[in-house]
Amino acid sequence: MAGKVALVLGGGVGGVTAGNALRRLLGAEHRVVVLEREARYLFTPSLLWLMVGDRRPQQVARDVGDLLVPGVELVRAEVISIDPAQKVVTAGDRELRYDALVVALGAELAPEGVPGFAGTAHNFFDLDGATQFAEALRTFAGGRVVVAVTALPYKCPAAPYEAALLIEAALRRQGLRERSEVVVFTPEPQPMPVAGPVLGAAVSQLLAERGIALHANRPPASIDAAARELVFADGARERFDLLAGVPPHRAPGAVRRSPLANENGWIPVDARTLRTRFADTYAIGDVTLIPLANGRPLPKAGVFAHAEALVVAREIAASFAGGAGATFDGTGYCWVELGGGRAAFAEGDFYATPAPSIRLRRPGVLWHLGKVIFERSWLGGGLERVLARAALRLGARVTGVRATL
Ligand SMILES: Cc1cc2nc3c(=O)[nH]c(=O)nc-3n(C[C@H](O)[C@H](O)[C@H](O)COP(=O)(O)OP(=O)(O)OC[C@H]3O[C@@H](n4cnc5c(N)ncnc54)[C@H](O)[C@@H]3O)c2cc1C
Repeated sequence: MAGKVALVLGGGVGGVTAGNALRRLLGAEHRVVVLEREARYLFTPSLLWLMVGDRRPQQVARDVGDLLVPGVELVRAEVISIDPAQKVVTAGDRELRYDALVVALGAELAPEGVPGFAGTAHNFFDLDGATQFAEALRTFAGGRVVVAVTALPYKCPAAPYEAALLIEAALRRQGLRERSEVVVFTPEPQPMPVAGPVLGAAVSQLLAERGIALHANRPPASIDAAARELVFADGARERFDLLAGVPPHRAPGAVRRSPLANENGWIPVDARTLRTRFADTYAIGDVTLIPLANGRPLPKAGVFAHAEALVVAREIAASFAGGAGATFDGTGYCWVELGGGRAAFAEGDFYATPAPSIRLRRPGVLWHLGKVIFERSWLGGGLERVLARAALRLGARVTGVRATL
């Protein structure tokens, strides 16, 4: 049989998972190529620990190549254009032809979308911003700490709330809590609205119990760097001493310029098969748009990128060599770190009708431990990684969590 090429764009959560699964499923006559512009893979969930001093920058990243199984070809280049009709991708100065394509290019951060954000807010969604926030918090003398979400959609629905909870715990640890306020501003009507009012109320209660003020439906329109104030669309202003910000997100340029994108730049896909409207072309993870029964999009989260990657690999293997394909069932989960070595855990069926069916497990030490083991399953070396995955599978069985791990 003639060998074919499965090309994966992006070496993040979805791309690494898809590349590895394809390599395991496809015969040696077929090539699996992963195209990624960065040398290092960043484990984003650890940014939340890093921003409060619980991790150092060198602990939260690994070489992309170390995460790929032998036989996956890693090409380090910037994707410039995607032509799904001709089945060709331009990256750097080369053209790559493919038989099947997986677009896993994620979402791009666009701090320039909010005047005054860059240089004033600590963008804890990237490594530099989270590192700078940690340094500012370390030398903080107390005051008003603001977590501000500027726009929707953003990655990881829980992240800003976890950030606020972890900052609050860090201020207590530093003996600064009495002299400090923690305040969240968000465009959302409640925390994690995709998960419904009950879960939103539970997260709001976790914030309220710790004296964290939540201002829903209140995104800042700009930031006045000199006055150190958030400025809102109605002209109101809110002061901050330390600002952790979530910048606007957008689809990567190569995707926005391609015929795969909708008018907002994201890639609409079939919710079950992750197929785009072009033959043999799939998209997974943050770059996709999947509307849910409650009218909100499937959240941008690594857990979905991971599960979707496994489905797409099976689909491509079936198209190359025959056999059964797979479909994505819409289940997902996330940890909500509370600080002090405790976490809550949300999980459920995001494809349920008439609305996603998500529940929040009671906070405890074991959920936090689960997240630490999850981190090791991505960042640990050889044996540590294997053991961490086995521990996660065992934990999922014991707790009854339905998770693709
Ligand atoms: C602070 C924070 C905490 C988070 N916590 C969680 C969590 O606890 N659980 C969870 O499920 N999710 C979490 N997430 C979200 C998670 O990181 C993303 O949803 C996930 O990484 C999406 O995977 P992806 O493969 O779609 O994109 P990514 O992992 O972002 O990968 C995209 C890759 O494409 C590359 N790329 C982009 N453009 C180009 C180009 N033109 N050429 C070449 N390469 C390119 C990028 O360098 C990147 O490596 C968190 C995110 C943040 C910021």
